[in-house]
Amino acid sequence: MLPSLILSYIGLQSIRQEQNRQEELFVQQLENSLALAISRLEADVEDRLSNIINYLPVYNTMPGRIYFDQLRYAINNSPLIDDVFTLGMDYRVYYPRKYLDDRIVQQRLSPAVQVHFDQGVAFEARGMLEAAINQYNEGLKEPGSAFQTLTLMNGIARCQFKMDQLFDARMSFREIIDLDRGRFLGNEVPFVLLAYYQLADIELKLGLPVAAMDIKLDFYELLVENFHQLRFAQHYFYLSKIKEKIEKNLIIFSPAQTRRYLDINRRSRAAENELLFRDFFDNHILPVCRNFFQVHTESTKLEYIRLQVDEDHLIIAMKAVTDESHTKSIKGILLNEAEINNLLISILELHNKEDDTGIFLLNPSETSFKLTADEEDSYLITAGFLNTRDLFPGYSIGINLLDNPDLENIFRRTVRLYYSIFAAIIGVILFGTIFIFRDIYREQQFSRLKSSFISNVSHEIKTPITTIRVLAGNLAEGLIVQQERQNAYFRLINREAEKLSYLTENILDFSSMEARRKVYRKEFISLYDILQKVLRRFYLMHQKDEIVIHDTIPSNLPDVLASPDGIEQAVLNLLDNAAKYSGKSKSIWLSLKQNNKEAVISVLDKGIGIAKDEQQKIFEKFYRVNYTEQKTQGSGIGLSLVKEIALLHKGSIEIESEPGKGSKFSLIIPVNHV
Ligand code: ADP
Repeated sequence: MLPSLILSYIGLQSIRQEQNRQEELFVQQLENSLALAISRLEADVEDRLSNIINYLPVYNTMPGRIYFDQLRYAINNSPLIDDVFTLGMDYRVYYPRKYLDDRIVQQRLSPAVQVHFDQGVAFEARGMLEAAINQYNEGLKEPGSAFQTLTLMNGIARCQFKMDQLFDARMSFREIIDLDRGRFLGNEVPFVLLAYYQLADIELKLGLPVAAMDIKLDFYELLVENFHQLRFAQHYFYLSKIKEKIEKNLIIFSPAQTRRYLDINRRSRAAENELLFRDFFDNHILPVCRNFFQVHTESTKLEYIRLQVDEDHLIIAMKAVTDESHTKSIKGILLNEAEINNLLISILELHNKEDDTGIFLLNPSETSFKLTADEEDSYLITAGFLNTRDLFPGYSIGINLLDNPDLENIFRRTVRLYYSIFAAIIGVILFGTIFIFRDIYREQQFSRLKSSFISNVSHEIKTPITTIRVLAGNLAEGLIVQQERQNAYFRLINREAEKLSYLTENILDFSSMEARRKVYRKEFISLYDILQKVLRRFYLMHQKDEIVIHDTIPSNLPDVLASPDGIEQAVLNLLDNAAKYSGKSKSIWLSLKQNNKEAVISVLDKGIGIAKDEQQKIFEKFYRVNYTEQKTQGSGIGLSLVKEIALLHKGSIEIESEPGKGSKFSLIIPVNHV
């Protein structure tokens, strides 16, 4: 019992452990698929961004037209890109849209021109304006840069203005404006700026305020159009100055001028925004890029920067590169946040079609741009991005099973199966234990029966032997002299010998039947003859018992195939039992009934009878009803022998009995048996 209890405990414990293990395994599987999905997702995003960045041209010290065309092409061809930039080792930033290429302009006069210029300035200072113009004109004959030409032209125009040659001056200033072509050439103050101021003054002097206003508007427009040519502070200064001048004279605007002014104003605001951004880039992004550049000079990996700009985010993807001439630089993309999110979602949808798990994007702010996860789903597991955490900060990816199977149920079903298997095992063990106990009990019972059998048999044998010995002894001693008594003694000896023979036959038959060696040879016999023989033997054995057998044995029945010894022994046993258990009644009824199917030999007594629950047990070996208390001698093998004999004849033994009223045993033997 104890081992099976321990076994039950261990079994239950391991089922519980198995349940936990199954759940852990399941979660682990989900986690693995999630990790796989995230790395695939990240690899996909990285691939796409790397592709874009790899095709960007590499910065070189003199970027030409092709370089800028390639940058512009990249911007126009990918919605992911808001802008691109490259950063050289000198940290110079190049933008195709917001900055123009900074052509380096030689802001110097040639030595020969310098001489003429210096002389011109000296004449001018002394009021010798004609001479000054001559010197400047001499300078113009020398070859040189646009800056040189503009410097000299500026001198000439200035002198003309001073000499009140207003029309000439006007022409010269216009020429300066044309030559400058929006480059704002000049030293501290660009020549073009001076030219516009002077032109406006000339028009006013000529009494043409509307024309003067046109010129101011021209200048305003020039500043707005070419804002990237000036440094922020410079630009801001000129812009505010010219606006001030214009606004002072608003009354004299023609309707066309008003429209033009408003239009330039609008464009000016856009320009200002770009300038502000440029300022922001210089002050905020550039330092991060520089820092990144110093740390990641050899990195081939994409790095991300995310900056909060007002309400929006500015996302930058960067990569350090080295060109053929081993020049290091950074290639960067300003990413469009909305498009990056769209990309992520489209990749997610692509992955979702692949297996039976659903992948969901979870927004950190809960103001989700796309929150597709089912919140009621209890098997949702989430994890953040690994490599692109900077690109998608706070976002996480969730996973669950599609079709939402009832997992609780699946687990419960498995566990129930385990429990039933377990219960079956325990059941088998219990049954086994019960059977073993029953066998042990039977074995004990059997050995008790056996030992009582031996003592019973010895006892039964002892009585006739003692009687024979005493009687034979007396005869041998010659103590019995009378013929009649001698005869009585011989009869007694014969009776006891008959009993002895019956007993030994019983025992021998039983033991050979036990060893499966007993063979009853069958022959065609008359049951009448057999029963007569049995009666003779019975009477011999029970001479003194005054028992009367009422027999109904027809003598004219056909022979049957049977073992004469077997039938004789069986019926003798039944009669002997009837005599033994008859109590006070001295009558026994023996009958034979035979038809062409079977012969039935019945032995009936009016003795003590047998209780219902004992009626089958009495046919078991050594079994005796209340054998411990029974006074009647017996070995407990008689009826088992009768049953064996019946079975050997393919027949049976039946019993009808009632305690206190008597018993009827019927030996049934098939007749047509061959
Ligand atoms: P035994 O040697 O004890 O008679 P048997 O096998 O012949 O052994 O009988 C088994 C038991 O059946 C007997 O001990 C007895 O209790 C019971 N029994 C047999 N025949 C009768 C009968 N005619 N009337 C009452 N009890 C009987």
